[in-house]
Amino acid sequence: MTIITRFAPSPTGALHIGGARTALYNFLYARKSGGKFLVRIEDTNKQAGEPSGVDFTEIGESILADLSWLGINSDDPAMLQSDHQARHKEVADRLIAKGQAYYCYDSTARVDRDKAIAARKDNIVFRSSWRDKVAPLQSAHNGDKAVVRLKVPQEGSITIEDSVKGKVTLPHDQIDDFVLLRSDGSPTYMLSVVVDDYDAGITHIIRGDDHFTNSFRQRALYRACCAAGIFDDTISEPFCAHIPLVLDEKGEKLSKRKGARSIGSFRAEGILSEALVNFILRLGWGHGDMEIFSQSDAIDLFDLKGLSHGAARVSYSRLHSLNGHYLRELPLADLQRRLEDFLPRDIDSIERTRFLKGVDGLRKRAKSLRDIVSLGDFYLRAPSIPLSDPQAQGVLASSEQDVSSLLLSLRGSFALLQDNCWDSASITDLLRSTASSEGLGFAAVARPVRALCAGRMDSPDLSEVLAILGKDETLARLERIEH
Ligand code: GLU
Repeated sequence: MTIITRFAPSPTGALHIGGARTALYNFLYARKSGGKFLVRIEDTNKQAGEPSGVDFTEIGESILADLSWLGINSDDPAMLQSDHQARHKEVADRLIAKGQAYYCYDSTARVDRDKAIAARKDNIVFRSSWRDKVAPLQSAHNGDKAVVRLKVPQEGSITIEDSVKGKVTLPHDQIDDFVLLRSDGSPTYMLSVVVDDYDAGITHIIRGDDHFTNSFRQRALYRACCAAGIFDDTISEPFCAHIPLVLDEKGEKLSKRKGARSIGSFRAEGILSEALVNFILRLGWGHGDMEIFSQSDAIDLFDLKGLSHGAARVSYSRLHSLNGHYLRELPLADLQRRLEDFLPRDIDSIERTRFLKGVDGLRKRAKSLRDIVSLGDFYLRAPSIPLSDPQAQGVLASSEQDVSSLLLSLRGSFALLQDNCWDSASITDLLRSTASSEGLGFAAVARPVRALCAGRMDSPDLSEVLAILGKDETLARLERIEH
């Protein structure tokens, strides 16, 4: 059997961590088994009740762009659920013809009342009064519009073997006669999802456990389609894995409505896609105590057995430390290329080259691409005086030593260094010899130079910074000490 999985987002908001995790698990599971991973944008509400101001096409495209940035690509072009509406309606019509579904002309008020009555009685779910009537055709009932409901059997039950939830059985009398076609003839999500999964040959459904209760309705519909001869009942029903939800740092359900961060916001912050994928992978799946997973490790090792049974909680400090790891591991040229988007637009080629040369030193402590740019701001422009960093300004204004005469004497020595000797080893030698001739420790000499040239005390190795700044720029910056 070829494994075919899918990610089926509703385009109601940008992709966030929970959705990306569902996509990732489906993608990995398909890749690992040499199967196929598909993406379907579930824009079923397009005709009926589209929330104003929501542009499904734009959101759908942004979801696909975010997935592609994460390296989670569909094997076939992404499908749009609304393109299959004619097929969904045809299935509903065939279910009606075979007695598996029926027109229901009850008003919404009547349905609400009947549901409330059913809810008060134990073990009874809503069944419409039209269920057992010979219903007139859609057009032939006093002009009223009917919805189409599934005729869920009264007897028997549905058992689902879920990789996470285990084997769960629900009697049919707990499953309501849910709507397949709305009164305007548009198919509901519940109908579309079952038909689309069947038509695409989906073998495994991995999704959030908020869909677990839906699975019983969907299975009832699937079986009705088999009974009506619409689906081939020799094909196995899809396997399910309903993964526990992701909680935010406060332990509350991570939701789009509560401002869960979008994948785009992590990208804009300068989180690497590799780090985010690694982070998301570990939110609800594990392999021993392994923490770092390359994409190929993840493909090799991912399995449904490793899915956790409890909700996972995000920890952004964990994400930042993972990102720091990937920033240090990335080939330098690749990192430099990714930093391009984060550099200010108004820099010239000298500043840009200087910055890119400094990246290797800067990445050691950075947590994001944006961080690298801010830690290396002194490569882009000379720090303005007085320095905005109070610690660095304090070093320059120190009353314990004559900082300005030290810096001016150093400047004189630096000026004598041959241009072709302007490298970090010669600079270190010169700083050392100055320290010993002045009777000072190395730090007492290096600190004011660092403060004046980098404007901050957390810059990378000073000799490396000065080597990259270049002789002229270093002399110009040292010159700025107030005499
Ligand atoms: N479209 C549904 C959602 O975004 C998912 C449907 C499914 O995975 O079956 O929640």
